[in-house]
Amino acid sequence: MKGDSFARAILDWYRLHGRHDLPWQVERSAYRVWIAEIMLQQTQVVTVIPYFKKFIHHFPDVNALANAAQDEVLHHWSGLGYYARARNLHAAAKQIAGQYAGIFPDDFQQVLALPGIGRSTAGAILAQACGQRHAILDGNVKRVLARYHGVDGWTGKVDVQHQLWAYAEQHTPEHDLADYTQAMMDLGATLCKRSKPVCEVCPVQRGCVAFEQNRVAELPTSRPRKEMPVKSARMLILLDEHNQVLLEKRPPSGIWGGLWSFPEVSLDEDLHAFCEQQWQFKVSDIRVGDIFRHTFSHYHFDIIPCQLRVKNPEQSVMEADGIVWYNTSHPDQRGLAAPVKTLLNRLSEE
Ligand code: SF4
Repeated sequence: MKGDSFARAILDWYRLHGRHDLPWQVERSAYRVWIAEIMLQQTQVVTVIPYFKKFIHHFPDVNALANAAQDEVLHHWSGLGYYARARNLHAAAKQIAGQYAGIFPDDFQQVLALPGIGRSTAGAILAQACGQRHAILDGNVKRVLARYHGVDGWTGKVDVQHQLWAYAEQHTPEHDLADYTQAMMDLGATLCKRSKPVCEVCPVQRGCVAFEQNRVAELPTSRPRKEMPVKSARMLILLDEHNQVLLEKRPPSGIWGGLWSFPEVSLDEDLHAFCEQQWQFKVSDIRVGDIFRHTFSHYHFDIIPCQLRVKNPEQSVMEADGIVWYNTSHPDQRGLAAPVKTLLNRLSEE
């Protein structure tokens, strides 16, 4: 099955079995599709739907997003993880507001030049919102094409990606681009799943190399295994006499960039001296909690929570410096790093 016949089979299947009522398929504007595509990059559809609805309700168009404070954007992203996506969305919205009067561009190169948008995402937005002919190659589509064509090698490798892009281009039809794009994503998500694919009802089973050669389980080839390094640090949960906790805003780049977090201290630092030197705090009590592990894509981060009782002499000055006393009984809207949320929940349960 080649070229159009592949696309035709996919489209026929999609009309009967694909998803047609996702919130970003209703009023399919470039803005809505863009938000959905970015959310879907590392997250599954069922998880994305409520976040998408909330986000769109709060930021209904490019200008609303561009004019929002970064904290507000990060707050509405809380729980989706991979916060660089939210920071890029915000930066791109500002760029669209400044350069294109708040109208999402419909030129492929202009879309590709926006922060956080790669070739596949640019193609997916313009195919779905404007019906333009662009191939896509997200994780789901890579899996379908690697199996269908029996492509060996990890799909993160440049030469493997070149092959898969060529197949993606070859199969992309001249018409029905919005449906075909959604159909390819749906096929990967619902039939050609990572584990237990449902080949019996797959519309492209005839012609699928992996199926014919009984290699479905081994394709696409897994990423070569590497031991993940482990880093450790202590997080200081500084409590004042009103049980407020001290949070610091992290630098804009790096892990949890722009989010609020507990101060982080290396394992060999003297905590009394550190607090005295950093904030002129006197520490009256230190309780060390159980280690918990937060895993990033490239390393494990072992966090040792240390709860410290302190006095807070100069609250107003400190808030101006990207530091805040956070009231856990009346939390305000700000983006919190994932382990901070966990530790705050534990604190409120004590
Ligand atoms: S036959 Fe199976 S492995 Fe091949 S594309 Fe369909 S679901 Fe994927």
